[in-house]
Amino acid sequence: MLDLTTIQIADYLCRNNIDFTERNNELITWCVFNDCDKSKKSIKDGHLYFSASNGQYHCKKCGEKGNIITLAKFLGDNNIMNNLTTTSINKSDNIKALIKKCNFNIPLEIKKYLKDRMLDDTTINDYMLGYGEFYGKKWITIPIKDEEGKYVYLKLRRDPNDKDSTGMPKYIFYPKDQNAVLFNYDNIIKSLDREQIFICEGEFDCILLNSKRIPAVTSTTGVSGFKEEWIDNIKEYSKIYICFDNDSAGKKGAEDLIKRIEKKIIKTENAIYQINLPETGNIKDVTDYFVNNIGSADEFISELPVYVCGRKPININQFEELIQQR
Ligand SMILES: [Zn+2]
Repeated sequence: MLDLTTIQIADYLCRNNIDFTERNNELITWCVFNDCDKSKKSIKDGHLYFSASNGQYHCKKCGEKGNIITLAKFLGDNNIMNNLTTTSINKSDNIKALIKKCNFNIPLEIKKYLKDRMLDDTTINDYMLGYGEFYGKKWITIPIKDEEGKYVYLKLRRDPNDKDSTGMPKYIFYPKDQNAVLFNYDNIIKSLDREQIFICEGEFDCILLNSKRIPAVTSTTGVSGFKEEWIDNIKEYSKIYICFDNDSAGKKGAEDLIKRIEKKIIKTENAIYQINLPETGNIKDVTDYFVNNIGSADEFISELPVYVCGRKPININQFEELIQQR
């Protein structure tokens, strides 16, 4: 256990992977509290100053002030927080700090991995994706909000560069044993547009679709975890699209979900479509479709959906006939 009364601030920053530069008995780094150093140019231009001798800090942009204990609290440092018996920190502040810390510590090779999946820096920050150590392993962190937009837990994706993954699943929750959440639903209900909603299979696909202005949600437990109450919610949308993975689990999952939705929809108001990803070129999921440049977002919406049930689509051919008759 760390002793905050004796640990040097330089030491503490190193332990938390916070880079800094030293000048005149001061440590300078990028502000961790606010977006003061968003562009992250040279660390020498950082706004957060620590006194090397007593660990007190001051951000010269946002004005945040404190000491090593308030910093540890902010970073969600469990080693230290367990020692802080006098101060109670509520759970949601705790998880927010952890999410910020992970987002701040995301290494370049993980950014590259995400960029290869078409998730750029803006998208990474919009969704506060990050990186950190949990259960003795390194993971990409995906913050999960509940339907009201409150952070409830992290979904962890195994570090794709960590080849030694024995005994660990590809995805896991932190803390463990969490309920399924309809990921991104809190975001899309902010829009008044109830025209269409896409249900996809996984957070990265979901984030990618939304970055392309395609309103998508996903269950944090994959194809099989779609709750009955969510079906009631998505009935608000006139077109419901299912776009699960192009494999047997995805196809089976889509079939089951469509059956369940069909029972609940209003046949004159809701139409259900299934997105059929191209069978050629090893296109396994939504991300593959866009990464391999198979089509644009418009083409994704206009060319891939196949009508399944509910309100029938308007037959475009009928319009053409009308025009010809004139
Ligand atoms: Zn600041």
